[in-house]
Amino acid sequence: MPNETIPEFEALLSRDARRMRPSPIREVAKIARDPRIVNLAGGQPSAEAFPLEEIKGALSELVAKLPPEVLRYGLTAGDSDLRDEAIRIMAERSIEADPEEVILTNGSQRALDLIGRVLLDPGDVVLTELPTYAGAIACFRNLRARLEGIEMDADGMRVDRLERRIARLKAEGVRIKLLYTIPTFQNPSGATLSPERREEIAKIAERENLVVLEDDPYSSLFFDDKEPPAPLAAISRRTVYLASFSKILAPGLRTAFVRGPRELVRKVELAAQASDLSSGTLDQRLILELCRSGVLRNSIEKARLFYREQRDYLLKALDELMPKGIKWAVPKGGFFTWVTLTGDINSEGLLGKAVEQGVAYVPGPHFCVDGSNAGSLRLCYSEESPKRIKQGVAALSTAIRFWDLPSTIPWALGECC
Ligand code: PMP
Repeated sequence: MPNETIPEFEALLSRDARRMRPSPIREVAKIARDPRIVNLAGGQPSAEAFPLEEIKGALSELVAKLPPEVLRYGLTAGDSDLRDEAIRIMAERSIEADPEEVILTNGSQRALDLIGRVLLDPGDVVLTELPTYAGAIACFRNLRARLEGIEMDADGMRVDRLERRIARLKAEGVRIKLLYTIPTFQNPSGATLSPERREEIAKIAERENLVVLEDDPYSSLFFDDKEPPAPLAAISRRTVYLASFSKILAPGLRTAFVRGPRELVRKVELAAQASDLSSGTLDQRLILELCRSGVLRNSIEKARLFYREQRDYLLKALDELMPKGIKWAVPKGGFFTWVTLTGDINSEGLLGKAVEQGVAYVPGPHFCVDGSNAGSLRLCYSEESPKRIKQGVAALSTAIRFWDLPSTIPWALGECC
């Protein structure tokens, strides 16, 4: 029988399932899969940055030995040796952690969901950056939290705006539970929260009895000689810290680690027991080998240089090709930059034209809990070749220049001005 939607199942869906929406970024990603389209929408690490040969070698050794415990259910908290490696990685980032404060999860996306489950009741407020990671918006929305976005500037979340919003929400009598932040090389803006603001946010969290959820997948991918500021988790024990092997090794290995106050982490473990029993044991063993043999360390060093070059190709192309008045951030690490358009140019409206020209990006409102930032967009430089990055920026520039013209312009895909 053909695969058709059966309307009577509609009525059986839960209220929450009815509210679920496909990720707009995945929709854009479908367009970007067309090889004629330069994919500046992305968000994936580059396959060129994977230590592929080393992973193959470690995997064949593991498979040759195949200790039976690798095929059994693992501990819900994760392989204890890999947890020790996670503690070592966090120590390098000035974060102290005991094994009981750490749990491994199937990627940090799963961790966001588990943490949301243990902390949030419907209607509880989560403060986020404006813009923020779209996957976190989807996750907290599914948990029926109320999301409040706090404006950012080049130094990250604005603390004055945060204070004002907290005062307004308290006057309304709502419960603020969580402050979700990606302080370092943020997705999508590329911005990094200044050390001063980190201190201030830690103090506010203490005063207001908030949990800070610090999502930190990109901090090892810094491009300057200087390391980024210490994580919030190194400043405040009220922080739940999330880090992932996705961007420094490979996202298909689906492994992240969480460090938080012991009582919260134990609840996260209970939530995980009911959600997936344990994360993939084979993945964890493989990552453990890659940590112990120094592959991870080398791979991070190489990835830093690789992504710095990628960023430089994009910045050079933007400098050369963007029309006057268009502004962009200069990220000091990570995968993304944030472009601010001029006048009445709307990034969602522009996307159709950009795709006609042969480039895809993600419009700003997809990252904003209030749908704002219509005049902004995210560019991702992680995946495309230097030549195609330039081609993509040229296509975007053409789309911007001809923004006023009707969308049925008969230009060939990929052609640029
Ligand atoms: N948080 C942020 C800020 C991200 O950018 C991503 C992936 N793009 C994730 C979480 C999810 O990563 P993973 O589940 O692969 O660890």
